Amino acid sequence: MENNKEFRTWLDDHKLEHPIVIAGPCSAETEEQVLRIAHELKDSDVTYLRAGIWKPRTRPGNFEGVGAIGLKWLQKAKAETGLLTATEVANRAHVELALEHDIDLLWIGARSTVSPFIVQEIADALKGTDKVVLVKNPVNPDLALWIGAVERFHTADIKNLGVIHRGFSTYGKSKYRNIPEWQIAVDFQTRFPDIPLICDPSHITGKRDMIFEVSQTALDLNYDGLMIETHYDPDNAWSDAAQQVTPETLLQIFQDLRIRKEQD
Ligand code: PEP
Ligand code: MN
Repeated sequence: MENNKEFRTWLDDHKLEHPIVIAGPCSAETEEQVLRIAHELKDSDVTYLRAGIWKPRTRPGNFEGVGAIGLKWLQKAKAETGLLTATEVANRAHVELALEHDIDLLWIGARSTVSPFIVQEIADALKGTDKVVLVKNPVNPDLALWIGAVERFHTADIKNLGVIHRGFSTYGKSKYRNIPEWQIAVDFQTRFPDIPLICDPSHITGKRDMIFEVSQTALDLNYDGLMIETHYDPDNAWSDAAQQVTPETLLQIFQDLRIRKEQD
């Protein structure tokens, strides 16, 4: 994955200060909500503001996102705060709209990574882009499927390619929403050291009070960054209410992670 060296170097430089942080709500809900969260996050370690505007839900009947209008809210948030912007894309039309609106980082969701045809469609639509593209692990614990998706993006000459570890579905009972199976991500990291690895403790834990410990484990394993769902009123979020933290809690998590690191 030689052509990914520039992104690797940029992230390594960034890491001298702190790992890259992507934060913001699971879903964009209203323009006011996106702008308020952006302002509350702007003077922090957050580099990218995330907000899902197309939400692939497991069961029908849940909130499926505000759609393309949310791209304008993200653009406005960037203009007002300087935060870079990030959203999920799940088909060619999403990619075209996100590129038209100059979104800085596009991620592929866990339910898309499982599907080679959809991954190929998204990769073709993104061909040659210098936007950051992050591929979440597939919902099932299948390293080859994850690697296959990354290879499709690599072949499409995506220059700034990374992956997000968000845990894996399990039928059995677990304290996690999606069990981390750290070894799968560590195997990925060992095989592809040029591809930055970001941890998503929000979707791994499903619970806000476990975000810190999973983030710390990821940093101890030398991950390159964190994606943490953040909302000023988590309990009333339109999706993933139980796992979102407030901007204040996020700041506290950063402080505690640093203190622990300094003590090591
Ligand atoms: C999300 O990031 O809000 C999301 C839907 O994640 P995942 O694809 O990991 O379930
Ligand atoms: Mn979510």
